Amino acid sequence: HGHTPLSDRLTPIYPTTKGLQQTSMRKLVVRVLHDTQSTQLHDWLPTNLLPAKLSTPLHAALQYLHLPPADAPVAQLLEGKHPAQQRLAFEELVAHHLSLLRLRQQQKKERGIALNKNAVLHQQFLAQLPFALTAAQQRVTEEILQDLQKNEPMLRLVQGDVGSGKTVVAALACLQAAANGKQAALMAPTEILATQHFAQFTQWLEPLGVHCVLLTGSVKTKARREALEKLCDGTAHIAIGTQALFQDDVQFQQLAVVITDEQHRFGVRQRLALQQKGEQRSIPHQLVMTATPIPRTLAMSAYADLDCSVIDERPPGRTPIQTVIIDNQRRDEIITRLRSACAEGKQAYWVCTLIEESDALQCQAAEATALALQEALPQLNIGLVHGKQKPAEKNAVMAAFKNGDIHILVATTVIEVGVDVPNASLMIIENPERLGLAQLHQLRGRVGRGSTASHCVLLYSTPLSQHAKQRLTVLRDSD
Ligand code: ADP
Ligand code: MG
Repeated sequence: HGHTPLSDRLTPIYPTTKGLQQTSMRKLVVRVLHDTQSTQLHDWLPTNLLPAKLSTPLHAALQYLHLPPADAPVAQLLEGKHPAQQRLAFEELVAHHLSLLRLRQQQKKERGIALNKNAVLHQQFLAQLPFALTAAQQRVTEEILQDLQKNEPMLRLVQGDVGSGKTVVAALACLQAAANGKQAALMAPTEILATQHFAQFTQWLEPLGVHCVLLTGSVKTKARREALEKLCDGTAHIAIGTQALFQDDVQFQQLAVVITDEQHRFGVRQRLALQQKGEQRSIPHQLVMTATPIPRTLAMSAYADLDCSVIDERPPGRTPIQTVIIDNQRRDEIITRLRSACAEGKQAYWVCTLIEESDALQCQAAEATALALQEALPQLNIGLVHGKQKPAEKNAVMAAFKNGDIHILVATTVIEVGVDVPNASLMIIENPERLGLAQLHQLRGRVGRGSTASHCVLLYSTPLSQHAKQRLTVLRDSD
């Protein structure tokens, strides 16, 4: 029924939500298409900028996609490869790119806070590190320090694979803020990662008289009030935290550097929100860190507002991670091998995953696995960390694992980003076929951080689809 004869058209199916029917959605779209036709949609892109095969006018492309003719090439449409779709995608990418460039232009016009390099503190910091910076870390640090010395705000992306050592580079940038009597903020996507950064920064920087505070959702009442006071009066030089950092009551005395770790977990808006915390008349330098290995062309559109530095080298002495793909039916064998590995002083992650992002179920699976492992390995200490735990509990477990008091840490994907326990050299990932390659790569990056050879077991469940098998093989064969 209805008045529009749809028989000569394919019927589009829209992503809808509860309370919004396909039919109402279609009616609305048809009406909008009709209304815009009469007023003429403005084509912002000059035709001479469009690649020849994408020269369909905007309205025609919209019309085609919402009301495809009956003989439209369905396969091509489903793959998103129809020129009308590509015409719209092209426009969106150009718009995204331009808006980022404009953002950059606006920011570059603002005044930054010139931070002179304090070579003495810089050297003292390096002297107390248990390692020497790699050439790549040195190069990228120099690029950052050059930027910081200018009185225009830095806008820089540091790209470096998992384990390439981005944290220490961030610490060196923060140190320069403190050395100039200013402040820095480091934002991490998870509480576990923020807490770990806080511990690491405190260890590195307190001996140099640089004071750090932690601000996360679980830092409450008195501790939080104290941290806020210290940031406000300048007693604290560096704030480390989660999104909690950009709540309204967080005020800095003179925020000069803002760092976002694992940028792929945040949006542009979030990283700018933190920047608003700067002084009235100048704008903080901005550093963004990511491990996501994206091609240069994609980086250019996703991060068009940023200059890019790459840490393209790993610290020396790392042995590549050996990855094996094993059927879950051989679980007992894996457990037996874990027993002997842990007896030799090794530590392991056992990661439980679930397809649906149902936190509750994922946590249940991890709890059950921890119990089963404890039963099978009574002589070992099994720890458990998942998203439903209280932060204090999570932190205690992570600390015990880091200290070596826990042999096997059963975890959900909460440990996916950033977690750094170099002595952990084994990782078992259950149901890896349910995760994407990027996520698996991040997870696996939790091992291979020390000098002992690391192993990653992809413990899949049958039946494994051809596609999933291919994906796991790619992960196994690449580092
Ligand atoms: P990511 O780039 O993944 O954030 P991290 O900063 O967590 O990497 O560093 C991974 C590990 O390597 C940490 O334990 C860190 O202390 C160590 N590390 C960093 N740089 C070096 C280096 N130049 N030599 C040896 N170890 C290093
Ligand atoms: Mg990191």
